Amino acid sequence: MNGADDTLRTDFLVLGSGIAGLRAAVGLARHGAVLVVTKDQPSESNPGYAQGGVAVAMGADDDTQLHLDDTVRAGAGIVSGAAARALVEEGPERIRELAAWGARFDREDGRYHFTREGAHSRHRVLHALGDATGWEMVRALLDKAHRTEAIAVRSFACSTDLLVRDGRVAGCRFLDEAGKETSVLARATLLATGGAGRVFAETTNPPVATGDGVAMARRAGAALLDMEFVQFHPTALALPGAPRFLISEAVRGEGAYLRNAAGERFTDELAARDQVARAIARENREGRGPVVLDLSHLDPERVRARFPRIVATCRRYGVDPVSDPVPVTPAAHYVMGGVATDLHARSTLRGLYAAGEAAGTGVHGANRLASNSLLEGLVFGARAAEAMVRDSPLPERERGRGEGQDNREMGSGDGSRGSIREDLQRRCWAALGLERDGAGLADLERWLDGCRATAPARPRDRAAAEDRNLLDVAWAMAAGALFREESRGSHYRTDFPRPDDRFRGHTLLEGGGPRLVDVETPIPEGARC
Ligand SMILES: Cc1cc2nc3c(=O)[nH]c(=O)nc-3n(C[C@H](O)[C@H](O)[C@H](O)COP(=O)(O)OP(=O)(O)OC[C@H]3O[C@@H](n4cnc5c(N)ncnc54)[C@H](O)[C@@H]3O)c2cc1C
Repeated sequence: MNGADDTLRTDFLVLGSGIAGLRAAVGLARHGAVLVVTKDQPSESNPGYAQGGVAVAMGADDDTQLHLDDTVRAGAGIVSGAAARALVEEGPERIRELAAWGARFDREDGRYHFTREGAHSRHRVLHALGDATGWEMVRALLDKAHRTEAIAVRSFACSTDLLVRDGRVAGCRFLDEAGKETSVLARATLLATGGAGRVFAETTNPPVATGDGVAMARRAGAALLDMEFVQFHPTALALPGAPRFLISEAVRGEGAYLRNAAGERFTDELAARDQVARAIARENREGRGPVVLDLSHLDPERVRARFPRIVATCRRYGVDPVSDPVPVTPAAHYVMGGVATDLHARSTLRGLYAAGEAAGTGVHGANRLASNSLLEGLVFGARAAEAMVRDSPLPERERGRGEGQDNREMGSGDGSRGSIREDLQRRCWAALGLERDGAGLADLERWLDGCRATAPARPRDRAAAEDRNLLDVAWAMAAGALFREESRGSHYRTDFPRPDDRFRGHTLLEGGGPRLVDVETPIPEGARC
């Protein structure tokens, strides 16, 4: 409902309309009015691009312990066991629920069909419409949200800062497309703003992935976790003029080979992502590139049926993956770190919650197991809703309707307009990318300090707000990467190329500099300022 001035009031405020935000909104709607604020059209988010699928232990030869073991192994010694257990054990129920709400997962002979991806010990990656899994999951959630009266969606509204009142987060400010600023007050606020791949020059992420929630939380005083851990996907399409379209790991799962310019296979195609990504970077750096994906030995009909979007996109840029080699490059893909939360999405600030890629639960440790993040959005989105309701019960008479629906369909853009952004992305790719070292990170941190000192305190449009957030998020990543003098999972330091037990923990960035916290409970339950 509208206030007298430019202030809206709602019971629950959800920032972001991806998997985590929408799943939370559906859960919250039974307990009060929900306003979903999203900065583009509601369907524009990372899952719209997610092709591989969603990892879930529902196959006949699978069980949750095997999924847990694979998740823990991928995380290189610092997965928080309780968070990972929640993920794998609650996952099947969240998937069944989503299917009941209309998500059409692919079947073969009447049963769900599971494919296999890198570092999974079983075929456990469920997919939808061939290679449009994330898109289909968001579609089902959006349909459900649109059918739910208590949920209102405010599109093209870019939240810029959190409002903190009497020591708790009380809502946010957002800018609409015309640059008009509005405040929203709520009993509980969820950050479900997704990833931050746009910090880097090479990324698979869409333009909305500028780390806004993480930056807003940090400015409001919330702790961040493990920001140095960024997963680089080994195989983004590398054709001149084409976006870094992701060639899913499932393509290698189906048997595609990686070859260098001499036609040699040079790595285990199904090894962990960081290993494959660095192997490709090494071939390129040492003059044995460009590296290509070779599908020519696979059944063409199966490739076309299984990967229709990948085939269509490659063809649009003049390459037919069924017969032609597909040039690929590593690209920033997923941020394991985020706003530090307990097992129920509670941040260190009262009234503030985070779920999905924006959150740092420790569930992925130092490296995410492929296809665990769509499941993470569902499981922790649902958990966030439960905690928000439990922590701020609503008197019956105050339950109200949200603000009116506003779902205009418009194109999206990255809004960088030749600002500081390109420079930032280039520098971060060089110093904070696949291989890092102390000197490069310290230089980057100094440069970021200078830029952050002159960034506007109250940006007037989305592009300026995103630029400020990218600077803040890049700074947090660089601080974590500089602090962690070892190599672990996705974080590779050429000056400290091995894991070091002294760093076997999570990096908590709170107030001043980073410090190491316990692997199992990075944020103890109820540890709030
Ligand atoms: C190309 C690609 C392929 C992938 N494939 C897979 C896969 O096969 N399997 C898998 O498990 N994972 C995959 N992932 C990762 C997965 O898609 C994401 O980790 C996951 O979707 C994150 O969900 P989320 O709900 O946290 O955020 P998102 O789904 O990214 O949603 C973020 C939302 O927040 C909004 N937003 C951002 N900033 C603001 C702001 N300031 N104000 C208001 N709204 C804001 C965005 O517009 C968006 O609606 C893939 C990612 C990419 C990029």
